[in-house]
Amino acid sequence: MGKKLKFLFFDCSEAATCCDKAQYEEANLFEKAKLRIHLALCKTCRKFSARNSRLTHLIKDSKLETCPEEKKKKWREEIKKEFAEERT
Ligand SMILES: [Zn+2]
Repeated sequence: MGKKLKFLFFDCSEAATCCDKAQYEEANLFEKAKLRIHLALCKTCRKFSARNSRLTHLIKDSKLETCPEEKKKKWREEIKKEFAEERT
């Protein structure tokens, strides 16, 4: 996949990661936009996303919504890495 395309499109594993982040409002607008594009094109990830949001609602309902600081830190690093790769 060319650089320009990669800028716009996730592969499925990135989409899954971003989907998780989006559920917890950890994804930035750019990531959410990319995720939306991917979901529009990828049936597998649409299913994953639907299942994921159901899970999130379950977690919220049971008031177990916790997000360890360590996990947030990991996500931030991943975002940083992603942008660094896109700039090169
Ligand atoms: Zn996908």
